[in-house]
Amino acid sequence: MFDKILVANRGEIALRVIRACREMGIQSVAVHSTADADAMHVRMADESVCIGPAPSPQSYLSMPAIISACEITGAQAIHPGYGFLSENANFVQIVEDHDLTFIGPTAEHIRVMGDKISAKDTMKKLGVPCVPGSDGGVPDLDAALKIGEEFGYPVIIKATAGGGGKGMKVAHNAEEMKVAFPTARAEGKANFGNDEVYIEKYLTTPRHIEIQVFGDGKGNAVHLGERDCSLQRRHQKVFEEAPGPSISPQERAKIGKTCADAVAKINYIGAGTIEFLYENGEFYFIEMNTRLQVEHPVTESIFGVDLVREQIRVAAGLDMSFSQDDLEINGHSIEVRLNAERLPNFTPSPGKINAYHAPGGLGVRMDSAIYEGYSIPPHYDSLIGKLIVHGRDRPEALARLNRALGELIIDGIDTTVPLFNALLGEDAVLTGDYNIHWLEKWLDDDASFN
Ligand code: ADP
Repeated sequence: MFDKILVANRGEIALRVIRACREMGIQSVAVHSTADADAMHVRMADESVCIGPAPSPQSYLSMPAIISACEITGAQAIHPGYGFLSENANFVQIVEDHDLTFIGPTAEHIRVMGDKISAKDTMKKLGVPCVPGSDGGVPDLDAALKIGEEFGYPVIIKATAGGGGKGMKVAHNAEEMKVAFPTARAEGKANFGNDEVYIEKYLTTPRHIEIQVFGDGKGNAVHLGERDCSLQRRHQKVFEEAPGPSISPQERAKIGKTCADAVAKINYIGAGTIEFLYENGEFYFIEMNTRLQVEHPVTESIFGVDLVREQIRVAAGLDMSFSQDDLEINGHSIEVRLNAERLPNFTPSPGKINAYHAPGGLGVRMDSAIYEGYSIPPHYDSLIGKLIVHGRDRPEALARLNRALGELIIDGIDTTVPLFNALLGEDAVLTGDYNIHWLEKWLDDDASFN
């Protein structure tokens, strides 16, 4: 086992990893930008190293700075969290070239899954069902128009290198395709340096269902059921739960096994998420994330496992601490993403937190790196915390979420808390009867916050 792990991230996920290290008796090293000198992850780690100025390309994304921090502190492994360098195959290669361990999958797996066209191709070959669409990349508008005819509109044009909801455009007819196709290409080029795009049938009423998988890198893998992340704004998740209210135990067992078998076949190591759209009882693969997800705590809650601890174990060459038969679902869990944003437009709202009180009590987990007096810097993602609740069933989890939101105090900045207060008054949310388009429509037509 490692003696010391460097956490190449910030905010709540850096704390999450530091906590796992502490429980395992492993020393932790935080890295931070000058803007984060006062951050909680710096305070909570055993050691810290300043790796550069505020802009992330010069700090959290600076590979030389992070490798040097390992060398200075003697850290043997790097946990990347999510975002930043977590899905950067070149970084994994560089880490390995320095005789350090990357806590995550291999560079090769990241490369294959990071390109959505090769990911889809690989999954298809492994027997995973995919959204109908183009066979690989679409070279030009003429080809795109042909595919629109063939599959029927609406279709979605997606940048193969896309992520975070960027590089995706919907076309409802040939006229729209003429604009959507070049726009998706341009977005892919501008955001990811790659203008290759592919086309899929645009599903109009799907749910977003993702399967958590975990491999030991030696050909063994398990699944930890699904998360339903259908409540999305601009293709970004805001509310996640497990198990999915629409998924039966038989469906879970079947799609779960398909996913676990697929990743076992490629000797996948560590945590991964296979994302699907689910419509009319069918699953359609959209992408695989080769890292820990923001929403991993809902899975931890219902299975009673620590996914970060498990990532560290397999990275150190140990076996997984559970088998498929050990994994049994207990109750229901919901996570809401607390962002420093001002409603109704979700504009970033960084600034000083004058008062903070975290909710507690049975079944409540608050993963956050904020504290009273802390100033949220304007340079990074607006996620400032995740409130996760667990109950014996969905109604109990919803009641607990309501109770916990009532206890939460964050003063001085605007947050997305009023969004969740309002959502908890909606029948669709209470019954779980919604698809990926529901939230946007509700925000446009019905939402009011106070
Ligand atoms: P990203 O990598 O940017 O997160 P994904 O491929 O995971 O992109 O898709 C993100 C979201 O976009 C999905 O959860 C869904 O809401 C929407 N989406 C993607 N593909 C389709 C599709 N074929 N039909 C309808 N919605 C889609």
